Amino acid sequence: MDYTRFFNRDCKHLPQPRARRAIPRRAAAAGAGLAVAAAALAALLAPPSGEASREPPPAVVEHPLALPARADAGSGMPAPAGGDPVREEAAGGAVAGPGAPGTAAAPRWRTLTVRRGDSLARLLAREGVGPRTVHALVTSGREARRLRRLRPGERILLARDGDGAVAALRYPLGPERTLEVRRAGDGYRARILQHPLEHRQAHAAGVIEDSLFTAAQRAGLSDRLTMALAGIFGWDIDFALDLRPGDRFRVIYEVLYRDGERVGEGEILAAEFVNRGRVYRAVRYTDPEGRTGYYTPEGRSVRRAFLRTPVAFTRISSRFRLRRRHPVLNRIRAHRGVDYAAPRGTPVKATGDGKVIFRGRKGGYGKVVMIRHGARYVTVYAHLSRFARGLRAGRRVRQGQVIGYVGATGLATGPHLHYEFRVDGVHRNPLTVRLPAARPVPARYREDFRRRTAPLVAALDTLRRVQIARRD
Ligand SMILES: [Zn+2]
Repeated sequence: MDYTRFFNRDCKHLPQPRARRAIPRRAAAAGAGLAVAAAALAALLAPPSGEASREPPPAVVEHPLALPARADAGSGMPAPAGGDPVREEAAGGAVAGPGAPGTAAAPRWRTLTVRRGDSLARLLAREGVGPRTVHALVTSGREARRLRRLRPGERILLARDGDGAVAALRYPLGPERTLEVRRAGDGYRARILQHPLEHRQAHAAGVIEDSLFTAAQRAGLSDRLTMALAGIFGWDIDFALDLRPGDRFRVIYEVLYRDGERVGEGEILAAEFVNRGRVYRAVRYTDPEGRTGYYTPEGRSVRRAFLRTPVAFTRISSRFRLRRRHPVLNRIRAHRGVDYAAPRGTPVKATGDGKVIFRGRKGGYGKVVMIRHGARYVTVYAHLSRFARGLRAGRRVRQGQVIGYVGATGLATGPHLHYEFRVDGVHRNPLTVRLPAARPVPARYREDFRRRTAPLVAALDTLRRVQIARRD
């Protein structure tokens, strides 16, 4: 069995130094359904089959777009043509710009692709747009601030009028939203265009032969949804160690359409994973207060109140032991935590929601953060090189929030994180302690939960029958 492929793929989703982060950040953005990201991921992956099948984005990076034709149709990008279902405000008639199909003086849209190291100024300089115009565009409203942080691969649509001045600029923020900056009087005005989307359901099913990723690819599941699937069941299944050939999964997820055209993926709505004969199921539910989570069909959270490890993908260098020779003190001493060897600067996450009760230096711990979680639990993170910005005693932290960075302060021979898990004041082994489940669906919403998730559970049942029938 070869899980290295899962790991290799998986690892690129870890926080990385800036330069290497381009893809995962875009992958994360695809959570918001960013079409650019979907296209980039589609290009990264082997061509998926069936529902998820998509043509990779065209190799041509810049091309003029004629109005009002839907020249961009099929690329998954919000088309700038007049016929698109963007809810146009009354433009006040001031600008006969884009969105005025049929106008003789209608400007041509040009699609510019952001290159590595591009700022808006640099990108537009290549088009001969001067810094004063760029400044006017970027300062045209609160929303226009998004233009200060362009990422490689993103696209900007630019419309010029007859004398070459910039009439409008569009920056697709995702399948549902586009930032538009349009000339208004002497300056520019920014606003967000909303594109109504249709949410449809799609499904995928697969059997593990060698790794989750290859099985998911065969099933036509995107990289992002595969990670999401692993995330949903990662509390119960260690995807690096527990997978076996013959394990199966079924996933029901949302696909977003605009004008009958697929523009992105939404979230996983329901999923089932059969690991070594054990069936795990999860459904997505948003309660009337807007809290969203994955729950078992019975309404228990699939999450634990604590992450098992506060640092991602690292090596355990010292386990919880009541007798151990201390590497610095060279004395027998209990080791009441777990040491994770990790490069200096690796982010350290709070393993559960809680309140910081200590942040500072403390003897052999060096720079240490202590977090209280409810009445019974305290977690400790020691030898940090530095703390997360703004972290102070009394602050609330969320599970997974970065609280500091791996270092070697205090009594440490090299960079590592020393992590402790205390229950009722007693040190417990973080690797084996039974982690309490996160909060279930509140009793008052149980009925709502059942009513809204029953169709998803039924759909999982149907998928299972179909998958079994195919196999037989
Ligand atoms: Zn330690």
